[in-house]
Amino acid sequence: MPMAQLKALARGRAWAFSDFELKDTVGKGTFSRVRVVKIKGASDRTPIALKILRKGDVIRLKQVEHVKAEKQIMSMIEHPFIVNLLGAFQDDKRLFMMLEYVNGGELFSYLRREGRLPNDHVRFYSGEIVLVFGYLHNLHIIYRDLKPENVLLDSDGHVKLTDFGFAKVVEERTWTLCGTPEYLAPEVIQSKGHGKGVDWWALGILLFEMLAGYPPFYDENPFGIYNKVLQGRVDFPRHFDMKAKDLVKKLLTPDRTKRIGCLKPGVDDIKKHKWYKGTDWDLLMARGVPAPFQPPVQSADDTSMFERYPESTEASAPSISSKEQESFQEFDTTLNA
Ligand code: AMP
Repeated sequence: MPMAQLKALARGRAWAFSDFELKDTVGKGTFSRVRVVKIKGASDRTPIALKILRKGDVIRLKQVEHVKAEKQIMSMIEHPFIVNLLGAFQDDKRLFMMLEYVNGGELFSYLRREGRLPNDHVRFYSGEIVLVFGYLHNLHIIYRDLKPENVLLDSDGHVKLTDFGFAKVVEERTWTLCGTPEYLAPEVIQSKGHGKGVDWWALGILLFEMLAGYPPFYDENPFGIYNKVLQGRVDFPRHFDMKAKDLVKKLLTPDRTKRIGCLKPGVDDIKKHKWYKGTDWDLLMARGVPAPFQPPVQSADDTSMFERYPESTEASAPSISSKEQESFQEFDTTLNA
C-alpha cells in the first residue's frame, strides 16, 4: 500500500494494543521487540511493524530520554530511505510505535550471506545512506547508530534506515556515550563532545565492512575495539578499490575538524568524491537507480528474510509506579500528516 494511504489509515485514531493481530517477531533489541501485526477486523490487510518497549526496562536502562527523542524525531521526518512512523501509543506497562513494515530484511543478513559486496553494490547502499544523512543533518539531527543491522531493505531492495533510538537534535555538540563499539568515532570514546561527524565516521566503518566483509576495528572485547579505534590504524585488504580506500580514509579521519563531510561543503564533498563518480544523485533520491539485489519476498507480510524468534504472547511486563508513569506523558502520537 502506498505510504500516504497507510498514513491515512493510521491517522486520527487512538490505538490500543488489542486493536492488532500479532504475527511474527522480526527483531529484538535490548528492551524492545518488533512484531509484524495487522489491524483486527479491517478489510485492509497491510502489515505494520509494531515496536514494543517495556516501560520498566526503559527506566532501568536509563533510556527514557532516548525513547522520547526517538518518537519525537521520527514524527518530524519523512524520507524515502527512512522507515516511516505511523503512530505511537502506550498502556500501563508498554510503549508502542507503529512503523511501516519493511520486508526485505537487514543489510546485515544480506552482507553475512554474501561475505562481502562488490563496489557498485556498496556504492548504491552507501549512496542512499549519504542522502539520508544529508537530509537529517540539514535538520540538525544526528543518527548515531549506523550499523548493518539498522539498514533494512524494502521489497525493491532500497534502503530503509530504522531505529532512531540514539538520534538527537543537536545544533553543536552532545556528550552521551552511545552507539555500537565497532562503529564509535574516537571523539565519542574520548568524551570530547560530538556532532554530525560521528555519522560520517560510521559511514566509513560501514563502507569498509561492506567492501571487506568485516569491520576495520575488531576485537572480542569492547575495550580492545576502543584501543584500536584510538590507534586509528586501518589495514586494507589487497583487493580494496583505490578510490574506495581514499574515501574510507577521509571518513575515518580521527580529527573531526578534518573529516570529509564535516568540512565547509558538508555532504557535497562526499557526493563529489571520485569513488561516487557517475552517480546520478537526483535519480538515486527518486528511487530511480535499480537496486543490486531484489529480496525474494512473496508478499507484503513475508517475514522469511528475518531471523526466527521464539513465540511470545507479550503478556508479561513488569509494572511501574505512577510517578514513573509521568515520564511517558505525551508519548502518544496521532499523526496528522
Ligand atoms: P530496533 O529495536 O528498532 O533496533 O529494531 C530491532 C530489529 O527489528 C531491527 O534490527 C530490524 O531487524 C527489525 N525492525 C525494526 N523496525 C522494523 C521495520 N519497520 N520493519 C521490519 N523490521 C524492523
